[in-house]
Amino acid sequence: MSNRDYYEVLGLERGASNEEIKKAYRRLAKQFHPDFNKDDAAAEKKFTEIKEAYDVLSDPQKRDQYDRFGHQAGFNGGSGGFDGFGGTGFRSTGFGGIDEIFEQFFGGMGGMGGRRRQPGPEQGDHLRYDLDITLEEAYNGKEKVITIPRTETCPDCDGKKAKSGAGVETCSSCGGSGQQQYARSTPFGRFVSMQVCGTCRGEGVIVKDPCPTCSAQGRVVQERKIEIKIPPGVEDGSRLRVSGGGEAGMRGGPSGDLYVVFRVRQHKLFQRKGSDLILEVPISISQAALGVEMEIPTLKDSTTLRIPEGTQHGATFRLKGYGMPHLRGSGKGDLRVKINVKVPRRLSSRQKELLEEFAHLSGETVGVENRGFFDRMKDAFGGG
Ligand SMILES: [Zn+2]
Ligand SMILES: [Zn+2]
Repeated sequence: MSNRDYYEVLGLERGASNEEIKKAYRRLAKQFHPDFNKDDAAAEKKFTEIKEAYDVLSDPQKRDQYDRFGHQAGFNGGSGGFDGFGGTGFRSTGFGGIDEIFEQFFGGMGGMGGRRRQPGPEQGDHLRYDLDITLEEAYNGKEKVITIPRTETCPDCDGKKAKSGAGVETCSSCGGSGQQQYARSTPFGRFVSMQVCGTCRGEGVIVKDPCPTCSAQGRVVQERKIEIKIPPGVEDGSRLRVSGGGEAGMRGGPSGDLYVVFRVRQHKLFQRKGSDLILEVPISISQAALGVEMEIPTLKDSTTLRIPEGTQHGATFRLKGYGMPHLRGSGKGDLRVKINVKVPRRLSSRQKELLEEFAHLSGETVGVENRGFFDRMKDAFGGG
């Protein structure tokens, strides 16, 4: 920041008229603007100085302060800065584009250049909750209560941030809009720019009597119980959106949403494939050979399956409608029963005797095979 006399910077006498100040600024700004003086640090410094001088001298109130107190008036940044003049925020932290500067002169009333932020209602954040459920719960559907910590509108001040209703005042600097208009007169008319209000930081209100529950934040973290409806047929990774179940909004904005993500646990009997269920059923070689009617567990209740004689290992039977409910639409998938033929590991001598007899009747050799492999294959598959 410059300590040079602002009049000197603009090459003017102390009593210069507004018209002379504007003329000097336009001439010098054009000459030293960084866009016209690439990588020229000296010009950049000079431009900052010119802009600062113009900002002060073009404002009657600031000029008056400056004329009386000089740089002591606090135009030079530091602790006081422009804050002593209502926090205008005009201090240059960067350069407006050259277009912006000249738009100020030629754009007239319509020229609203510059950076603007709209401080208004803001939606709260979305939340995600992973819910572990069993396959039975996914099958039947269920209502479940979950507990989530989330920010909510403060119950004590109702989000108003103050202990009593009277403790909040509309910000007088911006009239509650959170924005302030800064007007500058130019030879071509008044130029108006909008900036975030420095007094209330864009909130629009000043809290005089802060609510102790939320420390004047208007929101607090609360553990909230929420009832979730698990839809029948829900899949691992399915998402359920609870509208408005997320974090509370700001400045009157709506709450975010809550997303419940279902995690369906592995079942010890059933495997899931889409809306079908797969169940592996072990049977013995005699059951496979002679057939059997057996009870099969399902997720609803049990049912009977007739396994016909001569069933092979790996054969699959389909029980229609015993699978998972379709998440969209009606009906259910199937239960696929996969047969696993078990060979007995231990036999009593009587069982051995009977099996040897069975082998003999079938013309099979047990113990040492004395026929060729291909002859045996022919017999086994009835070929030739
Ligand atoms: Zn509160
Ligand atoms: Zn304000």
